[in-house]
Amino acid sequence: MRTNPSAEQRLVKFIFRELYLNNSLIHLERDRGSHDGDRLLIGKLEIPDRDIRYLNTVDHQLHVGWDDVDQLPQVASMIIDADTGPITRAINYGLSRRVFLEQLDQAASEGLGTKCRDSECRYCRAKILSIDEYPWSPQVYCHYCDSLNTTIEVPDLGLLEQEYRICPQCQMYSRPRNFTIAYFWFLIFHADISHETIQCCNDCMRPQAWKMFFGNLIGILGLPLAVTQLVRVYRDSIKRGPFKGLDEANRLLKRGRVEKALDRYWKIIERHPASAGVLYNVALGLIAQGDYHHARETLVLALQNCANYPPAETLMAARFETVDS
Ligand SMILES: [Zn+2]
Ligand SMILES: [Zn+2]
Repeated sequence: MRTNPSAEQRLVKFIFRELYLNNSLIHLERDRGSHDGDRLLIGKLEIPDRDIRYLNTVDHQLHVGWDDVDQLPQVASMIIDADTGPITRAINYGLSRRVFLEQLDQAASEGLGTKCRDSECRYCRAKILSIDEYPWSPQVYCHYCDSLNTTIEVPDLGLLEQEYRICPQCQMYSRPRNFTIAYFWFLIFHADISHETIQCCNDCMRPQAWKMFFGNLIGILGLPLAVTQLVRVYRDSIKRGPFKGLDEANRLLKRGRVEKALDRYWKIIERHPASAGVLYNVALGLIAQGDYHHARETLVLALQNCANYPPAETLMAARFETVDS
């Protein structure tokens, strides 16, 4: 059975290097790879979509897990010399449809067939199955691209929401982006360069950007990059759209100014009443205030807005056990 309808087949080509198969380096040099709509071709490896069990990317690293013809688990890891987005979207298109059918069977066997909701992510086109009550909640979470999909009309929202998710550093709903942190040191007989890319929200990057600015004052060469990151942090704070003020609200909450933070969050919720992500931050604020009763109610509201939103599910389970308890 072909996983993807022919109309959806698109050839994605890429260059890879440093290919590891089950932790053994099997191909060091740059080479061509592709995804033709049904299978991933990496050098001599041919991996049909139907056999893929796992897919993960970290910056330019791509990790794929699949079952071989003997049903033995295999893992390939490589560096991609470009954005990994088109490759993961191509693989996830077929993978999500296969997983969807498996989940549908599972739900039917558990008597949940009538609660199965069928959605397609508007950002990455993955197929999503969620267990929901009709009328459906206004948001659906896509775990393939880690985005909330709002299915009701929200003024000025457009496709903005795909940029918003939980920040890996502060664990709050925000707009994390990649930032490069680099230091250039030039002493009389010694030069040193250190750099890394981190993903975080503007607020988490702010102290890092200042530290990088002052840290590069001596070396001079690193200053343009430090200034660029500083400008990105301040210029690109969330100033428009339904999430206007989210950075500031998160910053206030982190500094313990919970009342002010909650004020800002409610203003965002007036513009986007269905945002499970913002409600999740509100619940964090209420917990910080010791108001567990309203925190629980807010998490229930977040899950009513998005029945499959993992941060709200996890926080609810950790703090309050279950929605029904
Ligand atoms: Zn998606
Ligand atoms: Zn953050």
